[in-house]
Amino acid sequence: MKCGKCGKYSLRDECCEPTQNPHPPKYSPADKYAKYRRKEKYGDVK
Ligand SMILES: [Zn+2]
Repeated sequence: MKCGKCGKYSLRDECCEPTQNPHPPKYSPADKYAKYRRKEKYGDVK
């Protein structure tokens, strides 16, 4: 969780103001890269 006011990361629900998850599930960059890597791998085999 990250405080949007002071920019510090915290495990608590609030710091200066309610903290927010800096990595919302809908973005999931890790999954996106995994897919790209897999596609690239298959393309290489083909
Ligand atoms: Zn704060």
